[in-house]
Amino acid sequence: MSNATSVAPGGVVLDWTAGRTGPPEPCVFGDGPAICRSPVRDVPCHKRCAEEWITARARDAADLARLIREHTPRKAAAR
Ligand SMILES: [Zn+2]
Repeated sequence: MSNATSVAPGGVVLDWTAGRTGPPEPCVFGDGPAICRSPVRDVPCHKRCAEEWITARARDAADLARLIREHTPRKAAAR
């Protein structure tokens, strides 16, 4: 792509250390079992698949930042 605002492939690194995991279930992207759960949809999803999805979907850097934020699980805040 020649679009100067396009997002560099593979640039997304999600932090899912606070995310949920579970027994292996088929990834929503259909490429095999995943133990990670999407923090947004709570469905089985590889972190790498989510990163590729975000990269493909982001329109620009600001959109990318927003998507990363939305797809990063927050640690439970102690209140
Ligand atoms: Zn996957």
